[in-house]
Amino acid sequence: MCYTIALTFGTNNAWAWVRHNLMTKSALEGISWLDDYDQITVTPYSYRDDSLNPNFKVVYTNPDCGQISPAPETFVYYTLNSGEKAGFEGAGTGRKTTARQILIDYSDEPDWAMDKELELSKAQILMAGSQGYRHMYYPAWDWHLPWLFLPQGVAPQRAEHFYELAKQAISKGDLYWGFRFLARVIHYIEDLGQPYHTTQTSLRFIIPTSPIAGTTQTTKNYHFAYESYVGYRMQQEVAGLIPADYTTTLKQTLAIKVNSTAELLKIMARANNKHTSDTFRTSVNLFGTELRSKQKVPLTQTKVDAMMDHPARDEFDRTVHQTLQLTGVGVLDFMEYARQELFNGYN
Ligand SMILES: [Zn+2]
Repeated sequence: MCYTIALTFGTNNAWAWVRHNLMTKSALEGISWLDDYDQITVTPYSYRDDSLNPNFKVVYTNPDCGQISPAPETFVYYTLNSGEKAGFEGAGTGRKTTARQILIDYSDEPDWAMDKELELSKAQILMAGSQGYRHMYYPAWDWHLPWLFLPQGVAPQRAEHFYELAKQAISKGDLYWGFRFLARVIHYIEDLGQPYHTTQTSLRFIIPTSPIAGTTQTTKNYHFAYESYVGYRMQQEVAGLIPADYTTTLKQTLAIKVNSTAELLKIMARANNKHTSDTFRTSVNLFGTELRSKQKVPLTQTKVDAMMDHPARDEFDRTVHQTLQLTGVGVLDFMEYARQELFNGYN
């Protein structure tokens, strides 16, 4: 098992949960049918997908999974842009693995640059580039720029895209890639469980003297602080350093019937969008107003450690519980949908 304690945070545009693999592990815990698929042979990639960054390369293993890169003056815990892949070991082609491990490891994969540096939409400039555009979704009637009240971002469509590839793989008996494509779907589901992925910004983050650049940087500061903080807490829970709380909240048991992958993501975004104002308010209360800045203000290890007894922590945690519960339910609903559609009768 691979543990990474602290990693440097990349320069900008992360826009994702920082530890999808930890989230997925907890969210899948109650799904016992996955254990029937415990001898899956790792197969080479043989699919055509012209939608990805042409420089994206499929990775099977990660020799540096245990690497620790403490960086006291940068964001606590994680980077998306350093090329490090926290906690992921993987298995090479021809080796045996399990469905559960594939889903856990590769639910991080869409953050490994497949969606970066693409020209997709005029809106991407206000969504931190093409990766943000694909990993977020602002529902209709939520006010945002540039498309005001129209839906913005394509996370639901990306999830549907990989669900179709999973179908293709499973129909030809390629279970490895079937589950790996499902892992990518889980990534986008989890991203829409992140409140900052469903609402562009908040009145609390507006910097009147610098309405675009300053407001964008402030929003990023809180967005990254939120993800870093939640990722750090989950890592500490998994390492047994603090009692399980966030990870437990992800373990849901009641799956609700869904009719399509994209629809599930849209439902999640709408549900999450309703309580983003609580998330933003409690983020400011916990992380402090110094993040309201035109400059990058990292949430460092020292600051996080000082927050353990912060009076705003309980209220902040309640909003995190809400969002992680939604995320856990989303993953469970999707896996039940996939089981019924793709695996019933499969042997
Ligand atoms: Zn993402």
